[in-house]
Amino acid sequence: MFGKKRVETLVVGAGPCGMLAALVLADGGEDVMIVDSAPRTCTNSNATILHPETLVTLQRLGIADRVIAAGYAIHQLSIYDDLCHRQSVHLNLHPHGFPFALSIPQSELEAILEDELTQSGVHVLWNHRVSEYEPDGSSLHITADRYSDRGTGYAISHMERVIVKSIHLQAKTLIAADGYNSILRRVAGRDIQKLGEDQYFVSFEFETDRDPSHTCFLSVSKGLTTAQQPLENGIARLQFQYKGLTLPSRNREKERAFFQDKAELPDYLDETHFNQLVKERVPWNIGYVSKLRYRAAVPYEKRYLKTPRSGNVFFLGDSARSFSPLGSLSLNLGIQEAEQVAQVILQTEEDEPRIRHQRLDELGNQMVSNWKRLANLAGVTIPGDSTDPWVAKNRVRILRSLPATSETLQELARQLHISIELPKRHPALV
Ligand SMILES: Cc1cc2nc3c(=O)[nH]c(=O)nc-3n(C[C@H](O)[C@H](O)[C@H](O)COP(=O)(O)OP(=O)(O)OC[C@H]3O[C@@H](n4cnc5c(N)ncnc54)[C@H](O)[C@@H]3O)c2cc1C
Repeated sequence: MFGKKRVETLVVGAGPCGMLAALVLADGGEDVMIVDSAPRTCTNSNATILHPETLVTLQRLGIADRVIAAGYAIHQLSIYDDLCHRQSVHLNLHPHGFPFALSIPQSELEAILEDELTQSGVHVLWNHRVSEYEPDGSSLHITADRYSDRGTGYAISHMERVIVKSIHLQAKTLIAADGYNSILRRVAGRDIQKLGEDQYFVSFEFETDRDPSHTCFLSVSKGLTTAQQPLENGIARLQFQYKGLTLPSRNREKERAFFQDKAELPDYLDETHFNQLVKERVPWNIGYVSKLRYRAAVPYEKRYLKTPRSGNVFFLGDSARSFSPLGSLSLNLGIQEAEQVAQVILQTEEDEPRIRHQRLDELGNQMVSNWKRLANLAGVTIPGDSTDPWVAKNRVRILRSLPATSETLQELARQLHISIELPKRHPALV
């Protein structure tokens, strides 16, 4: 067809998972293109913690130093019940890899990934929304609509997004990294399965005079989890698991504006409610709060795709599954899996589609079994005789909130005298 651009791999969605996959592919010499419906990277902190294992992934790409320089190292996590400190776990006791996790706003991470992609010769095609795809022989025919902002109205000016052009692409493989509300999942007719109970969190960023001392805080009380992470420059973020709210899935759309209109926020995100939540739910000293900054209320449905591949499309990141926000598990697994998916694509470049599908399915099956394990920690963790009984009882909530994925997660669990069984790493990286 006239005007149809051919590309080996198309990545849909320039979130951290899509950009990471595109970067690995570009560095491996693949002809890759990446499109995103939004006008730019996100502007808020969102998922803030990078696990030591994720830093290893970034190191393999040669960008760990740059990311670490932009973040704040987390050395320990202090665990509280509703009144007092119970135990701490230390990331610097792990003998291999990075002896810390990293706190970095997602906006900063995305900006670095975009810049690295540009340096690798791949420019994100912003404002391009993929609306459909269909099989075209052994490849896919994809339509992406280019959007532009148009001013309307006279008395009150108003901007709306309009389609100015549609482009047609042909790709051998499509990585669908189009996020929690994935449209491509619907186009593929894929049903998503429950992985656990839906959760809702409200989070507040604030400026404080308390020295963060490279520490994250966690409390579990009356069946609800509260967590605090330090960000850069005297900013901290408190996240409260919250019952009694049902939030729309549009609250999972990432922010692209630089200012939040405080007048539009609901009551449960105002200062009075923040102070009340701190009083009722935070047993550690948060310091003097000089300013409340960004706030958000976000739904987290725990769910997954039973098979992440559908024909020539592979679902990655939040489009394939989602967890609760504590410990930023979705982001970290997504980045690690993005590297693996991209490696399989590179390793099967010369093979016929059947072989690539087989290899992607092996990886997909292993990812699914890992997600199930992480969603069902009660079944794969065993407290020991010397585990604090309160820790043993609350171990699922505690372990799920730790800033670690595989070996480091096992090490942190060991410090709590809990053993945890996790699958081995996929051979794509061995
Ligand atoms: C306010 C907020 C707070 C959060 N806090 C936390 C937290 O504390 N901890 C945590 O773990 N997670 C948190 N998250 C979730 C976290 O941001 C995601 O897990 C993470 O972004 C997933 O990365 P991803 O690359 O899979 O998808 P995303 O980052 O969502 O990227 C998907 C991209 O696809 C683009 N896109 C969508 N549809 C199309 C289309 N049809 N065509 C082209 N492009 C498309 C979108 O514009 C987007 O840029 C938060 C999210 C929000 C919104």
